Amino acid sequence: MEATTAWSTLPGRLVVLSGASGVGKSTVVDRLIARAGGKVRRSISATTRAPREGEIPGVDYFFVSPEEFDAMRGDLLESAEVHGSRYGTPAGPVREALGAGLCVILVIDVQGGFQVREKVPDALLVFIQAPSPDVLEHRLRERGTDDDAAVARRLANARREIEASRGYDVQLVNDDLEACVDALIATLAEHNCAEGIGDD
Ligand code: 5GP
Repeated sequence: MEATTAWSTLPGRLVVLSGASGVGKSTVVDRLIARAGGKVRRSISATTRAPREGEIPGVDYFFVSPEEFDAMRGDLLESAEVHGSRYGTPAGPVREALGAGLCVILVIDVQGGFQVREKVPDALLVFIQAPSPDVLEHRLRERGTDDDAAVARRLANARREIEASRGYDVQLVNDDLEACVDALIATLAEHNCAEGIGDD
């Protein structure tokens, strides 16, 4: 795919999915992809943070050093510092998939979401809310991947993200997982993204 082709001319649809840590974004997207029959692709981000137990390089993230991240800068669609680590979306694979007419989902933070809107104005920005701040805190602690300081940092960041999410196109609440996936599929259909998802 020519790197000069304007994003808006590509036939696929770009969708940004954001939400506070612990809200269940990854699970929602995994379920969506399982039901989408190849019509939806999730972009794999690069990050300078260390892998968590069970995470697979090249599947969950491309885990890179700060120097490697710097070298990628020119090839990133967006990038941001989140919770003290750097994250970014490699542009090439996103272009390829959009060129093939797929719906591409970026699971990224709100700073990245607004950068994507600048570059790709017809991208759809979806924010997933937790049912309440208490539920979010409970989910983060239950996940057990972060110590108290990290949980506190993630919660402070969550409050900022929720505030910023007012600029998003669509808000969904992840109260019940399947209901949230259904709502996301309905949202995508409404916005002409990967029509017929979930019909197979
Ligand atoms: P985690 O480290 O828990 O996997 O992700 C932390 C935060 O970084 C989440 O809000 C996640 O959505 C965000 N994130 C993951 N990949 C990217 C990316 O490529 N760009 C941006 N801007 N944020 C990302």
